[in-house]
Amino acid sequence: MALIVQKYGGTSVGTPERIRNCARRILETQRAGNQVVAVVSAMSGVTDNLIKLAKEVSPEQDPIEREMDVLLSTGEQTTIALTAMAIHALGGKAVSLTGAQAGISTDRVHTKARIVNITPDAVHKMLDAGNIVMLAGFQGETASGEITTLGRGGSDLTAIAMAAAIKADLCQIYTDVDGVYTCDPRVVKTAQKIQEISYEEMLEMASSGSKVMQSRSVEFANKFGVRFEVRNSMNNNPGTLVKEETPGMESVVVRGVSLERNQAKVTIDDVADRPGISAAIFGAIASANVIIDMIVQNVSFDGITDISFTLSAADLPKAEASLKAVLPTLGEKAQLRTTSGIAKVSVVGIGMRSHSGVAAKMFKALADGGINIQMISTSEIKTAVIVQESEVENAARAIHTAFGLDV
Ligand code: ADP
Ligand code: ASP
Ligand code: MG
Repeated sequence: MALIVQKYGGTSVGTPERIRNCARRILETQRAGNQVVAVVSAMSGVTDNLIKLAKEVSPEQDPIEREMDVLLSTGEQTTIALTAMAIHALGGKAVSLTGAQAGISTDRVHTKARIVNITPDAVHKMLDAGNIVMLAGFQGETASGEITTLGRGGSDLTAIAMAAAIKADLCQIYTDVDGVYTCDPRVVKTAQKIQEISYEEMLEMASSGSKVMQSRSVEFANKFGVRFEVRNSMNNNPGTLVKEETPGMESVVVRGVSLERNQAKVTIDDVADRPGISAAIFGAIASANVIIDMIVQNVSFDGITDISFTLSAADLPKAEASLKAVLPTLGEKAQLRTTSGIAKVSVVGIGMRSHSGVAAKMFKALADGGINIQMISTSEIKTAVIVQESEVENAARAIHTAFGLDV
């Protein structure tokens, strides 16, 4: 008998028929002689709708985060109950548990809480009584009993963290594609399914826009050594195994290409080139709780330079407001400029540590496609560029082909 954690994403539970499909698969897994904890997301579109409603009733200011969590957690609560009912209707036994009931404790950072501890006693008790446990994804509870949520895509984290806590033999993430592909298959039709990928590569891909997995969940899996599979809830095709790096993996130079839309750029022109300027700029940004991505500072001329950085377009208003307050301290002529409508394309692979020429090949592919590069950044296993958003899909396809990733 194995202990299995399965997770079904929003599209997989998006309609009553699909919920019954998941219920059937979960029940089959149990009937094959296993104990099953099944994590589900909100039905597709539900979380987005709840966010929209919250903004409609609170147009004057961002909705209060505590109440946001009370609201958003209802999406998953609906799905656990419906799936448990479907399992009963098919002749099985299932009990639904919210994150709090399942012992998932988090910190107090509403809307993007971190799991601090899991006490899975209730889960074990229900499993030992012959139940399937239907666990609400994306949510937990603070020490003082407040409901929290784990950030967008957080049901992946619930599944991986619960798999670690109960020492599951298998963790399966069921979604609407067959696994992790060399690029988003909706954008690059010739993308191939990857059989195995290291945590590190999956993490870089997820955090540079391949949202097939929530990046924090991959970070958690890496930290606690939770191997997991990404598979399709609509078929039985083999999926992608995400696991620790093995020696053969480095022979593949580029594992995949990621794209991230809705980026924006802030440029501060004519800032004084003296100690403390960057600290003032990024201190202001940090205190507005804005996460920044690439940073470029130009070579200075006559004691004057300029600094640019990128961020999510959604954070641009907050960033602008916080920078306006410090602008007068950055130099007499300092000026703020912002650009939206840009996007990021990245190539990722642990083979980049030992192979040269990746950046050159990427830039050549973009040049041949007539695509202008606005910014560049590199890390040990990633090279990323900023391009015009209207060109991002062509950029991804050109790079995918250049690295021989097409099927
Ligand atoms: P779920 O609701 O199951 O969590 P998501 O929508 O979060 O599903 O993730 C699945 C989607 O991720 C796919 O439909 C696909 O379009 C997108 N995606 C982006 N990058 C990749 C990639 N490299 N491989 C597979 N899917 C990807
Ligand atoms: N329902 C949440 C979201 O849409 C969590 C998840 O689906 O993983 O972000
Ligand atoms: Mg997801």
